Amino acid sequence: MQIGIIGGGIAGLSTALALQQIGIDAQVFDAAPKFEPVGAGLALAANAIKGFQRLGIADEVIAQGNCLDGFHIFDAQGQLINRTDSRAMSAKYGLDNFVIHRAALHKVLVDHLPAASLHPNKRAIGCQPKEQGVTVQFQDNTETAFDHLLVADGIHSAVRKQLLPQAETRYAGYTCWRAIIDNPGLESLYASETWGKAGRVGWTPLKGNKIYWFACVNAPENDPSMKAMRVEDLQQHFKEYHTPIPDLFRQTKPEQLLWHDLYDLAPLPQFAFENALLLGDAGHATTPNMGQGACQAVEDAVVFADELQKDFSFNLAAQRFEKRRMPRTHWITRQSRFLGEVAQSQNWVFMRVRNFGLRHLPTWVNDKQLEKVYSVDF
Ligand SMILES: Cc1cc2nc3c(=O)[nH]c(=O)nc-3n(C[C@H](O)[C@H](O)[C@H](O)COP(=O)(O)OP(=O)(O)OC[C@H]3O[C@@H](n4cnc5c(N)ncnc54)[C@H](O)[C@@H]3O)c2cc1C
Repeated sequence: MQIGIIGGGIAGLSTALALQQIGIDAQVFDAAPKFEPVGAGLALAANAIKGFQRLGIADEVIAQGNCLDGFHIFDAQGQLINRTDSRAMSAKYGLDNFVIHRAALHKVLVDHLPAASLHPNKRAIGCQPKEQGVTVQFQDNTETAFDHLLVADGIHSAVRKQLLPQAETRYAGYTCWRAIIDNPGLESLYASETWGKAGRVGWTPLKGNKIYWFACVNAPENDPSMKAMRVEDLQQHFKEYHTPIPDLFRQTKPEQLLWHDLYDLAPLPQFAFENALLLGDAGHATTPNMGQGACQAVEDAVVFADELQKDFSFNLAAQRFEKRRMPRTHWITRQSRFLGEVAQSQNWVFMRVRNFGLRHLPTWVNDKQLEKVYSVDF
């Protein structure tokens, strides 16, 4: 069975590894000139770690990151709004609130795959379903025929646009800056977010005495004034926010700053097609508010290989995958979008009620929500 995977991100590489475990050597094609990721920090929850255990790489992944004790939400003055005890969660659901540099995770995945199966510099521009199999066209004027195709080329997937032209990416309403910087002397074992009228700032300690921070500001899509923002402008924008937020911006070098508008994918009616299947962000991209996009990509890999090994029929496995994965990924997309709206609200009355509600939220309500996220269907 010849399987081609378009996209060598977390979904594509994890799936190649999961297929390798059931005796299938898939070929992975990525648009980038090298199998080297860009990006910043990734928080991975207990469900992703369970996925890595299934893929046999959990220990290696864990060795590359940091396990945090908690997740705290503050208001702009630094008053605690809500707190999750990640040690308690880890005791209940398996290692949780783990953070890693995206590049380190990517390297673990790449190192487990044969170099000959990884094809950089191959941007897919379309696909042609044939009577038997599917042919993919690449931007370099080549084409390759496969028995089956896994489409994992991210939220703006070129192949999905052809299979499902009506799929709609939706701007979240806020734009995001991120950076990984040298730790300016913070001693913290928890991840935190600060929610205020100017927007949201989060920061997390990474392994190797680094800090990953992000900042989200409500803005129109592709706003030139946001695009022009430099670190000094962010410092000014969040000048009222509590320590250590000003220090994080001050410590950031211009070349460390990444900027993106945030999007998700309106829940799709279909992941499975004749001889093709959408995986990861190509099928169910979510806003990053729940930190679940990459986690769901890992779940996809495990579930698809699990279905395929039942009878080695791609189309049946793809249909069963769709049935298993669609309700959960749709739920995460909707919840994450809602959480973003709550966190990014600039309405004073709503913010006061929200902060009061979160301060007095019974622990069991928080736990119940998290339990649903952590309960994987492996
Ligand atoms: C700001 C931000 C923060 C996030 N934080 C978290 C977090 O903390 N935890 C978490 O779990 N998730 C997080 N996510 C989500 C996570 O990054 C994604 O869900 C995850 O990377 C999806 O993996 P993927 O492989 O499906 O897609 P991608 O990572 O987008 O990979 C797609 C790959 O396809 C390649 N490609 C693109 N087009 C083509 C083409 N035409 N032909 C061939 N190759 C192509 C790209 O080069 C890339 O390598 C965050 C996302 C954002 C934007």
